[in-house]
Amino acid sequence: MTVMKVDLHCHSNVSDGVLAPAAVAETACKAGVDVWALTDHDEVRGIPAARAAAEAQGMRFVTGVEISITWAKETVHIVGLQIDENNQALVDGLACTRSGRDNRGREIANQLALVGIEGAYEGALKYVGNPDLMSRTHFARFLVEIGACASTAEVFKKYLSEGKPGYVPHCWASLEQSVQWIRGAGGIAVIAHPGRYRFTQLAQGELFSEFKQLGGTAIEVVTGSHTPDQYPEYAQLANHYGFLASRGTDFHAPGESRVDFAALPPLPANVTPVWHDWF
Ligand code: AMP
Ligand code: MN
Ligand code: MN
Ligand code: MN
Repeated sequence: MTVMKVDLHCHSNVSDGVLAPAAVAETACKAGVDVWALTDHDEVRGIPAARAAAEAQGMRFVTGVEISITWAKETVHIVGLQIDENNQALVDGLACTRSGRDNRGREIANQLALVGIEGAYEGALKYVGNPDLMSRTHFARFLVEIGACASTAEVFKKYLSEGKPGYVPHCWASLEQSVQWIRGAGGIAVIAHPGRYRFTQLAQGELFSEFKQLGGTAIEVVTGSHTPDQYPEYAQLANHYGFLASRGTDFHAPGESRVDFAALPPLPANVTPVWHDWF
């Protein structure tokens, strides 16, 4: 039996990736991906082009989105898979979630100006593919461009993160709203890269329990946003809480992500993949 290569977490320039949706599809396909989801931040407008390109190349396409939420004062990402991207409540909810991003971008630029980095709003804007979706990633690319840092990863260590210049707190959707939007659109809710949040074990357990109670189905286990030692850790937690397991690179740009399509390992054998009953 051939093992399918499944990648259920990727970004295009409709959010903070650099490639157009069709080019992300092409890149994934060339790297051997058989089943692929586009999961732009708070946006579904890349889906028609992504679907057309994926199907033209013979990949199975899965509709997706990555919703920014605030839980216990932290930003958490909830991926929705197999959603109807035309569902009105989902479309309206995402539009509402996106609406504060431009003002936040202006405030980020004001803060950066205070530490001597001028013109960051205009600088970041050059990298923005969707005017509704200005992201910290676009600022990070600008800071690399001007030589303030050597990589976007370094930018997030020195700037744009809590306690650092250019961090502007933002209140996103709630966990409950995100799960309702996803389930209301016929989809499956997945906690993205749970190992990346700075929760205590207790708080993380509360997040998992609340998510489960709201109708959440899965957590990401193997993701480009986890370290390899987190794969078995989150596999065990998925089983403990009765979650299915998801897998995806969290691809943003060639050479920018920690892991490329071909290098991401498969899910550990002891979990049930989120796609176990899809085909
Ligand atoms: P935003 O939604 O505008 O707050 O931006 C969040 C995005 O910034 C994430 O989706 C990542 O693409 C990127 N990001 C956040 N933290 C890091 C990090 N430590 N290293 C690289 N990229 C990061
Ligand atoms: Mn991103
Ligand atoms: Mn994320
Ligand atoms: Mn992502």
